[in-house]
Amino acid sequence: MNAPLLDPAASAAATAPAALAAIESEPAWRAAAQRCAAVAAQFADAVDSDARFPAEAFAALKRERLLSAMVPAAYGGAGLSLADVGAICETLAQGCASTAMIYAMHQIQVACIDEHGSESPWHRQLLTQLCEHQWLFASATSEETIGGNMRTSACAVEADAERFSIEKLAPTISYGAHADAILVTARRTAESAAADQVLIVALRDETLLEKRGVWDSMGMRGTCSEGFRLVASGLAGQILPTPFAEIADQTMLPVSHTLWASVWTGVAADAVNRAKAFYRAQARSKPGAISPAGMRLAHAVGLLQMMQARLSVALDAARAAHAARLHESQADAPLAAMLGFASDMNTLKTSISSTALDVVHEVMMICGMAGYKNGTPYSVGRHLRDLYSAPLMINNDRIAQNTASLLLAQRPAAPGRV
Ligand SMILES: Cc1cc2nc3c(=O)[nH]c(=O)nc-3n(C[C@H](O)[C@H](O)[C@H](O)COP(=O)(O)OP(=O)(O)OC[C@H]3O[C@@H](n4cnc5c(N)ncnc54)[C@H](O)[C@@H]3O)c2cc1C
Repeated sequence: MNAPLLDPAASAAATAPAALAAIESEPAWRAAAQRCAAVAAQFADAVDSDARFPAEAFAALKRERLLSAMVPAAYGGAGLSLADVGAICETLAQGCASTAMIYAMHQIQVACIDEHGSESPWHRQLLTQLCEHQWLFASATSEETIGGNMRTSACAVEADAERFSIEKLAPTISYGAHADAILVTARRTAESAAADQVLIVALRDETLLEKRGVWDSMGMRGTCSEGFRLVASGLAGQILPTPFAEIADQTMLPVSHTLWASVWTGVAADAVNRAKAFYRAQARSKPGAISPAGMRLAHAVGLLQMMQARLSVALDAARAAHAARLHESQADAPLAAMLGFASDMNTLKTSISSTALDVVHEVMMICGMAGYKNGTPYSVGRHLRDLYSAPLMINNDRIAQNTASLLLAQRPAAPGRV
């Protein structure tokens, strides 16, 4: 954390003039994302081989003020929509998957604070400061002994009217050592049930991160997703007022699944571009020869287009669910619509994460050894290794089990609907 939080009572509008929002129009943010993706691509192999934070790409993202892309303009951000931020993730992923995944994870935290902290002066002020200093936010939802079930916690908050403290054994906090704040889940009190959770913003300056092990992974090596013993304290106002169950259902899961899917689609798109270039070069070098790679390329392009179409449908559904929430309370929302939305978001995650791997597998078959070896224009080994994290980031089997329960609770579809 580079600067302390200012007086929480200060108005966001007063400290965040429109001039702070450097990215206002669509072409400007798109071009900015492409510049950042070019930087990310330049260092992607080094980030991967050294398993280090993509510092150059994040310096560029901060310079372009893209860390505050989704923060409303009233706080000094660009106020971009989820679809726009998804497009940025997809663009970045074509340069470096780790950069794009870190960017996506940061935006998920921003969305949770914006959606559920707008009534809290402390969180409003935090968003203003994020825009001003281009802070980076991380997440600690998983916990040792709990596995991937983020809807339960073992650790509990200790709080009085003024202050809180928390200690958590977190097996994975991506870029934890580089973050300015970490959003941590915990049980509301020491007496609370495991599923009665809150979400707390722990500021870097008031958080001790004791490293537990190293991040020497198969892929997504630049995310530096190390394990930590996290010990944090701060003002009681740093705890988001909405129960975590609501934050997770309404914001964290749908935003995670759409932005992660955008990242994986971007990685697959970059691999397909490499396959197209390989196929063109092959056709040029052997005019008239018919390569079986053409069939695979057509298949890979078709799969990629299905991923893009599925993502676009999910973004429409997320937009509609958000609009509906603005008009009715959670209690009024029809149960069938809520269950349908949750299962749609689940299947988005499971289908895109596995199809992205299928696409890159096809690309590897097309490019052959040129794809398998590192350091060629057609290398896709890093893409494949990075994408193997996709079905594990909240295990697809766990999600499928949850989807099955949601489907069981839904009424049979009317004819012509699924
Ligand atoms: C690149 C990357 C970055 C990450 N970054 C973060 C981060 O920043 N912050 C964070 O908190 N977490 C992070 N995670 C962790 C992640 O989101 C999941 O929580 C984690 O991947 C789940 O860990 P797991 O596979 O050990 O556990 P599980 O999901 O528990 O899976 C382990 C095993 O349990 C099985 N299983 C599935 N469902 C059940 C069930 N209902 N009952 C019993 N067993 C079941 C699975 O099939 C599997 O065999 C990251 C993960 C990756 C890959």
